Amino acid sequence: MDILVIGGGGREHAIVWALNKSPKAGHIYCAPGNAGIGQIAECVPIAVNEFDKLTAFALEKKVGLVVVGPDDPLAEGIVDAFETKEIPVFGPRKNAAEIEGSKTFMKDLLHKYSIPTAAYEKFDNYDAAAAYLNTQQAPIVIKADGLAAGKGVTVAHSMEEAHQALQDIMVSKVFGESGAQVVIEQFLQGQEMSILSFVDGETVRPMPAAQDHKQVFDGDRGPNTGGMGTYSPLPHIDPAIIENAIEHIIKPTAKAMVAEGRPFRGILFAGLMIQPDGTPTTVEFNARFGDPETQVVLPRLKSDLLEIFLAAVNGTLADVEIEWSDEAAVCVVLASEGYPASYPKGLPIEGLERSEIEKDALVFHAGTALNAEGQFVTSGGRVLGVVGLGSGIAEARDKAYEHAERITFSGKQNRTDIAAKALV
Ligand code: ATP
Repeated sequence: MDILVIGGGGREHAIVWALNKSPKAGHIYCAPGNAGIGQIAECVPIAVNEFDKLTAFALEKKVGLVVVGPDDPLAEGIVDAFETKEIPVFGPRKNAAEIEGSKTFMKDLLHKYSIPTAAYEKFDNYDAAAAYLNTQQAPIVIKADGLAAGKGVTVAHSMEEAHQALQDIMVSKVFGESGAQVVIEQFLQGQEMSILSFVDGETVRPMPAAQDHKQVFDGDRGPNTGGMGTYSPLPHIDPAIIENAIEHIIKPTAKAMVAEGRPFRGILFAGLMIQPDGTPTTVEFNARFGDPETQVVLPRLKSDLLEIFLAAVNGTLADVEIEWSDEAAVCVVLASEGYPASYPKGLPIEGLERSEIEKDALVFHAGTALNAEGQFVTSGGRVLGVVGLGSGIAEARDKAYEHAERITFSGKQNRTDIAAKALV
């Protein structure tokens, strides 16, 4: 069966890599893909928001399945566009993707069904929001309602910072329409974890939990990024807490979406906070695979990813075999100098060859391109995700850093403390 994967980051490289292992997979196309994806699939120069071109391409090539990676096209209804043309597609429809695309929708849903999440108020008027804020104390969290490339959230440690964030969103409109509404939310203390699940209506098939490192510098300092590294499993987290989150947050949320007439089919990504008393609560839901969580979770999947996607599309997810390896995976992101602010592009990357042939390492390309000489060069803020595999986190981490050090490009930056929390 021929497949079209939509997206062009490290997450999509990991998805294409896993699909490529399926004996049922035929030709794999990726739009737009990247230089690493181009080594195992055919990259197609169509942008993720060009729905007419993408559906026409899928029809022309008679692809048997479309898999959508990024959030923006999902929020804009890419799945509905493929379904209209009767092309099988894995991902949530627009009305289900709203669980990520609108924080007010997500908070109201959880509130309505008594699913744990931080206390909140929502506003579509600046004066009312500012007046409410005056009754609150820092720390407090200010969130733009819509998608803002992960930048729409301010965890304010002073009331000045909170008011500034509110003004930026509602008066200066730095996120445009995404800031037409705001959520003002109680600050949650604790440790974060991510649980991604394959979901098909009420059937929830969770993947092993993972942890992300959002800030750019060691010790969780500096500005937030798309993610500087991840690891899975989480040996320092009590499995009962993970089970609690699945039973009391993720499954009830899938059920609530069905009850609302918006059945969710795709990857439901729960961003959770484990509070100091050990109770998990919801920080956010995403409607797709996480990046770079995917890079540590899919290498641990022993079953056939294509079969799982097809089962979800056909409504038979409850019956498919999903097995995970006990191996640990650690992903270290190699980023360009200056990221997450501006950064140079087009810098030659050296040392990729050896990691590509070794069994205990995987390199997923995020922002790479080929130059005129056919050499890999940087083309994004996050350039590569280097994944180490091993019998435990310590071994996987050593492998990831060993390979991360071998790969070089001018200005390369990476965190040196990925997964360190899991070692103590
Ligand atoms: P992304 O898509 O990058 O994950 P987002 O824009 O969807 O981000 P959230 O996930 O809601 O935003 O928030 C981003 C980060 O802010 C969270 O991962 C968490 O670290 C922090 N955060 C969000 N809400 C709270 C809260 N109530 N208390 C403490 N920290 C929070």
